[in-house]
Amino acid sequence: MPLTKSWIAAANDPTGPFPLNNLPYGVFSTEELPPRPGVAIGDMILDMEEAEAAGLIALTDDPLFDVPYWNELMEEGPAVWAALRERLTALLKDGAAEREKVEPLLVPMADAELHMPFMVCEYTDFYAGRHHATNVGTIFRGAENALPPNWLHIPIGYNGRASTVVVSGTDIVRPLGQTKAPDADAPSFGPCRRLDIELELGAIVGTGSDMGQPITLDQADAMIFGYVLLNDWSARDIQAWEYQPLGPFQAKAFATSISPWIVTKAALEPFRAPAPAREKPLLPYLQDTGPMFYDIELQVDMAPAEGEAKTIARTNARELYYSAAQQLTHHALCGCEMNPGDLLGSGTISGPEKDQRGSLLELTWSGKEPLHLSDGTARSFIEDGDTLTLKGWSQGDGYRVGFGDCAGTILPAPSFPK
Ligand code: CA
Repeated sequence: MPLTKSWIAAANDPTGPFPLNNLPYGVFSTEELPPRPGVAIGDMILDMEEAEAAGLIALTDDPLFDVPYWNELMEEGPAVWAALRERLTALLKDGAAEREKVEPLLVPMADAELHMPFMVCEYTDFYAGRHHATNVGTIFRGAENALPPNWLHIPIGYNGRASTVVVSGTDIVRPLGQTKAPDADAPSFGPCRRLDIELELGAIVGTGSDMGQPITLDQADAMIFGYVLLNDWSARDIQAWEYQPLGPFQAKAFATSISPWIVTKAALEPFRAPAPAREKPLLPYLQDTGPMFYDIELQVDMAPAEGEAKTIARTNARELYYSAAQQLTHHALCGCEMNPGDLLGSGTISGPEKDQRGSLLELTWSGKEPLHLSDGTARSFIEDGDTLTLKGWSQGDGYRVGFGDCAGTILPAPSFPK
């Protein structure tokens, strides 16, 4: 599929993130406008509250865009999602008849502040990157026990915290916690000393399922509304002490950052990719029924407080072993009700090569092989003032479908009595 041309010049830039083929959904404000839904197009944002109030968008009897989140559209389901995309394309494409009505509703992206694009209902984090699972297993348990015996059969996950999912640009406070060094007799208390990132893709559930009712893989794929980049910030020293036998708790609960624009499943349709080879056959309910993976280029940049950003990893979402649809099917299998606004983290995405690893734990091999930043300083893990930025895009024929940055800067831990 080639570039669909827009009358907004910047949307036709072949390396820009927001062409007409993308149309991602966010929430923005300006000095004059309180937070409201917007659609990114080139270097502009279409004000959806105003577009609906002006009658340019009329999908439902009751307004969908008079609230600062996209959940109301999500709940309407795939037919309304498709109708909106078709209408937006008609309004913004080259030669659009209603251009003069749309022009006053565009806000320069440079003047806008971005907010959480949707209300996160609940957050579940999975572990679907095979290279990551193998690397972490090797570091924590040795090469012989790297991949847990269930890993090739189950999309492993844990129930995380929705309360601390934040939009890109939100500062992250270094967590306090309980840790125990391997050679120490007793645990100690203090700021996390092995603070890390996890490069993930977040899938957003658009329509829900009923308690007690499993869903098929095709139903699950149809329920997914879109995707964001997701950084599952991780406190490795806290994690190592607390994770057995119930998995991560404090080590992950302090913050999860997402990119500000929901890239819809429709925009990613041309970039669907087949499943990887299955070493062990999956049980029938998880067996692939079509291409439900995505070809998305991913990148991690790291910058010290005073210094330029440096790219420390590059990989691709095709490295995942389980799709978001497989994770959603598995999630609902027991009868767990899924709801609009549920967020599913993919698990850390690492490639087979050393510079394709999606966490510092892997990139520095648990701190043994430090990275060097642009200012010449070395890092085993993240220091206060460092900024980590995830980037992602799918490369089309003369255009890119971009996600926008997922960035966060680390602030010092709070003072707290010991
Ligand atoms: Ca994770």
